[in-house]
Amino acid sequence: MNMNFYVGTKVITGLDCVKNNADEFKRFGKRCIIVTGRSSAEKCGALGDVISVLEKVGTEYIIYNKICQNPTVSSCFEAAAEALSFGANFVIGIGGGSPLDASKAVAVVIANPNISEKDLYAMNWKYTPLPVVAVGTTAGTGSEVTSVSVLTNSVGRKKSFRSDLTYPALSFGDPKYTTFMSDGFTRSTAVDALAHCTESYFNRKANDISRAFAAEGIRKLMKTFRKIAVDGTEKLDINDLEELYNASLYGGYAISVTGTAFPHALGYFLTENYGIPHGTACAVFLNEFMDYNAEVEPDITSEFYQRIGSDADEFKALIAKITPETDVKLSDKDIEELAPRWENNASLAKNYGNVDVEFVNKLLRQLF
Ligand code: NAP
Ligand code: FE
Repeated sequence: MNMNFYVGTKVITGLDCVKNNADEFKRFGKRCIIVTGRSSAEKCGALGDVISVLEKVGTEYIIYNKICQNPTVSSCFEAAAEALSFGANFVIGIGGGSPLDASKAVAVVIANPNISEKDLYAMNWKYTPLPVVAVGTTAGTGSEVTSVSVLTNSVGRKKSFRSDLTYPALSFGDPKYTTFMSDGFTRSTAVDALAHCTESYFNRKANDISRAFAAEGIRKLMKTFRKIAVDGTEKLDINDLEELYNASLYGGYAISVTGTAFPHALGYFLTENYGIPHGTACAVFLNEFMDYNAEVEPDITSEFYQRIGSDADEFKALIAKITPETDVKLSDKDIEELAPRWENNASLAKNYGNVDVEFVNKLLRQLF
């Protein structure tokens, strides 16, 4: 099994890590655009921390705060246009996966202002993207340490690009920002991290390094999930939140090697068509993913449970307990209409065994 691994991001974590590392911002230039969602960056204190260090080191900034969940390509173009008029030398993304993924695209478009949406996704970039600094505020996507940018395209479909040029140059992870998350988003982002680790472990592209990250990420998540199962998310203290945050980075490292598998591939339509938050949309398939892999790869499955210090019963019960409930019903016609999505799908090809259209149709009928 190979040991291939590349993550081109300097990562700094821990309480007050942004404020304690002001000098780190100096090397990127004198002007930047800060890319955020609507309000959480300000509410959780991350925006204030970033502004105070920029003022300290004398870096000028503008703020683009119109990134929505499942960010649109058009908002990235809009932010890039503002950055170009301002003369930004780098991009700071603050938020969950949505603003962080958007900031990677903004960095590409600033460097390549006349690029089309098609060429953005196809990575037909003439010039190297600007550096991105990522400040994570959710414990889920691991976007802080991945090169992946998932954007909603102009026809409303979630589509991603990934390139060695779009790893954030620098990432900060201060778990105190995540104390402001709602119960629903704490759960949804946590099961997203779990999905990353699990889908990476049971993946044709997995190697020794990705499996080590995936297994350790899951061990951390399970520890916290056992607490949430008893007391809910309100009782999580800063150490628990730090475990969740760090686990999300382990998941990011793992999927940097492998990408995801069928829960993520199938989850996108639930977000696009039914507005289910990303993590929940993927996690609703996780128990079936485990059953499927137990059948097609029993040896990898038993090694997996040994490494995470659990068994199928506990693991699946915790997934069911932590994942927020969904209420989606699909008719046979709905399932038929979705079918073209599953043909030649790269993430489906990464599963062990054979996950084909027939398999997916059967699964959707069973679940919804
Ligand atoms: P998100 O879409 O970034 O944010 C979800 C919600 O949480 C928003 O309402 C946001 O508010 C709020 N929020 C964020 N941080 C908060 C905080 N500290 N306190 C209170 N509220 C907070 O959520 P996400 O799950 O992190 O990201 C999901 C996106 O990432 C999806 O588009 C998904 O496809 C993508 N993704 C990317 C990768 C990758 O490797 N790049 C991997 C998995 C998923 P505001 O809008 O006000 O900010
Ligand atoms: Fe995800």
